[in-house]
Amino acid sequence: MRFPLALTAKIAAHIIKHKILRTPKFALVLQLEPLHTCNLTCTGCGRIREYSTSIKDIMSLEDCLAAAQDCDAPMVSVCGGEPLIYTQIEELVQGLLRQKRIVYICTNALLMRRKLKDYLASIYSPRQEATLEILLKEELITQKDADTIRKGKTNDRLVIAPSRWMYWNVHIDGLEYTHDLIVEREGVFKEAVEAIKMAKILGYQVATNTTVYKETQIKEIEQMFEFFSSLNVDGHTISPGYDYDQAKEHVIKQTGRQPEEFFLTRAMTRQKFAKIQEWGKRFTIFGTPVYQEFLAGKRELTCAAWAIPTRNIKGWKAPCYLITDGHYSSYKEMLEKVDWNNYGVVDGIARDSRCKNCMVHCGYDPSGALGVNYQSGDTWKNIRYNFGAKPAPYHEGRKVNAYNGVNSGKGHLSQEKVSVESLPKR
Ligand code: SF4
Ligand code: SF4
Repeated sequence: MRFPLALTAKIAAHIIKHKILRTPKFALVLQLEPLHTCNLTCTGCGRIREYSTSIKDIMSLEDCLAAAQDCDAPMVSVCGGEPLIYTQIEELVQGLLRQKRIVYICTNALLMRRKLKDYLASIYSPRQEATLEILLKEELITQKDADTIRKGKTNDRLVIAPSRWMYWNVHIDGLEYTHDLIVEREGVFKEAVEAIKMAKILGYQVATNTTVYKETQIKEIEQMFEFFSSLNVDGHTISPGYDYDQAKEHVIKQTGRQPEEFFLTRAMTRQKFAKIQEWGKRFTIFGTPVYQEFLAGKRELTCAAWAIPTRNIKGWKAPCYLITDGHYSSYKEMLEKVDWNNYGVVDGIARDSRCKNCMVHCGYDPSGALGVNYQSGDTWKNIRYNFGAKPAPYHEGRKVNAYNGVNSGKGHLSQEKVSVESLPKR
């Protein structure tokens, strides 16, 4: 199965319950942002810019756990900012698991190995020596790390242990050169790969989370899937990046230039994702086949942003992860007060100009799962995809030249230096 049976059954039961109750709108995934502080400043990250004035504020643990109960989504994606900076991340993950949620920790992985080492120390016994040997051989920990781990747990802090109900969801936007360029720091790709390798050795479930930008080359996306498949990654989420920035609309009006010059339009998204169904057969891509058809331009879907709500320090962010027309104090209040008919694209017409080019996962993937735009055969398609055999790891992916950036002497900083040096001399 592409997605473990217990997890699929949990989500299916939630959908069936609400269909029987005829609940018009309900949550499938909560995007929980306990904080917006981050240890990176990625190009195009809306969070660290939109919430720059409250960047140091954090949600209390109680508020985070209450938010999950409030919307009762079976899945919670803990994001941010960088959630591993949240000082009570261990308590939060444990609390969500106690509530029987499926938990995704969306991380840039810079602090992930630290958390993995904490876990290893907490379970250390001489039986772990074989694991330490593998980690040392793969250079995923240092000898000093191993000595610290051997001391065992030195405090009462909780740890994030492997669970079949939890995934590390690691932000990866391409191979080394592209990824480090987007996150604006060299070495981040390598750290993410090492964290993924270590997590897999320790028995965690790991997914990758990719946003496709205008500059992203299709060939590179395929190579990225091949590489991470060879590392036995459990699944991939992928979504088109979308810059809805009103300022850009303004620039278009002012300059008369085309949107294609600035951001990923619907037509460009369809071009980039033309092969997504083929990728879905080769790799474990999370998301419904109906959403994949939509991305490939084979059908239309209606935005169902209410199914993947975002909760942060300011409240329930409406209408969606991308645009903000207000924050509400409860999920119910947001459902009731927002006029959802004002958003999305229907029959090619944008109900809100900011939605015009949007095809993102958090708006449209739920439509595929919930049958919002039901077509004959959709249910069977979704079942067949989820219950179908999980694509085998692509071992040849080890040959992909993934370290094509700083590790091959082509980091973006050095690249800039090369291009400056290659300018004609005066
Ligand atoms: S890691 Fe995530 S939250 Fe941090 S800057 Fe990058 S996109 Fe934004
Ligand atoms: S289409 Fe939906 S998800 Fe996209 S920007 Fe509009 S409301 Fe948000």
